[in-house]
Amino acid sequence: MKILVTGGAGFIGSHLCERLLNEGNEVIALDNYFTGQKSNVHHLMDNKNFELIRHDVTMPFFIEVDQIYNLACPASPIHYQYNGIKTVKTSVMGAINMLGLAKRIGATILQASTSEVYGDPTVHPQVESYWGNVNPIGIRSCYDEGKRVAETLFFNYYWQNQVDIKVVRIFNTYGPKMHPYDGRVVSNFIMQALEGKDITIYGDGNQTRSFQYVDDLLEGLIKMMNGPKEFTGPVNMGNPNEFTIKELAQKVLELTASQSKLIFKELPSDDPMQRKPDITLAKTNLNWEPKIQLNEGLKKTIHYFDELIKGGKLDAYTHHR
Ligand code: NAD
Ligand code: UDP
Repeated sequence: MKILVTGGAGFIGSHLCERLLNEGNEVIALDNYFTGQKSNVHHLMDNKNFELIRHDVTMPFFIEVDQIYNLACPASPIHYQYNGIKTVKTSVMGAINMLGLAKRIGATILQASTSEVYGDPTVHPQVESYWGNVNPIGIRSCYDEGKRVAETLFFNYYWQNQVDIKVVRIFNTYGPKMHPYDGRVVSNFIMQALEGKDITIYGDGNQTRSFQYVDDLLEGLIKMMNGPKEFTGPVNMGNPNEFTIKELAQKVLELTASQSKLIFKELPSDDPMQRKPDITLAKTNLNWEPKIQLNEGLKKTIHYFDELIKGGKLDAYTHHR
């Protein structure tokens, strides 16, 4: 199959491109390199079935493909808050452009939505039928509301134009190729531990997240894309094992044998207090559930960041602050 991956030079996108190529597909990756790196897909450049194109999804793009994975969007708070207007444009105009393309060429299109559509949830664990608790003018709203409108667009193209859509609500995902300076908790804690810096816990560290290793997500995304046509989602994909941020810090310290100290900083506003996916829908409809648990995934991620540091490769990454 011929497959378009927007955000293909990013963390999840670059893993997805590699996996789709390994499965024998032709893959075109689009990226504007805001948070993605050419180095993430450098090893794929010699593959005759791979093409990398610099393009911003807020502008229309024309191509003939069978499937589109729409992943283009900064995903970490530091990055999506860097230019909130652009974040909304990327989610909304990006969705319009890619849905328009899917409609014209009859492609199936999958949207990388997010657990952030639930905001600071009052229902726990989060089920897909929960509408969420989002502050429309908070510091996270450019991302949350952008992704919510993108879901609205996906379903309207489905109802009005019969576009084959797939909407996946991705919960916190981590692994090698995360941006070392994207400010997300897993990359921050590992970098801090490896560099002997203080581990920055925001708030009291009792807020929870459920961490999914990237390979489990890839399996789910591909199953969803190729699953029954009538199963559009939205469907949660995440690892239901829930940890407090303090527990995560302890685990990272143990696994890196680091002497770093824990320090407590102010909790950013609208930071969700708890997050854990109910994955019954994905289990039932796709026979999917995550297999890689936190210790194993963290070890692989720590190894990646360790190599990045030892290889002197950090200068290649931009600090967007
Ligand atoms: P990432 O920042 O590594 O990847 C996003 C990619 O999109 C980057 O390569 C970036 O350069 C590109 N991009 C951003 N704006 C663009 C634009 N206007 N035009 C073209 N390319 C653009 O983040 P990620 O973690 O790989 O996230 C990928 C997708 O998954 C995002 O849509 C994100 O919202 C979603 N998601 C991720 C997580 C997670 O925990 N990693 C959770 C929920 C949802
Ligand atoms: N967090 C933290 N220290 C950090 C980075 C993040 O304590 O150095 C906290 C953050 O406040 C949030 C959780 O970890 O409660 C997850 O943050 P992240 O940005 O990774 O993801 P999100 O909040 O979008 O789930």
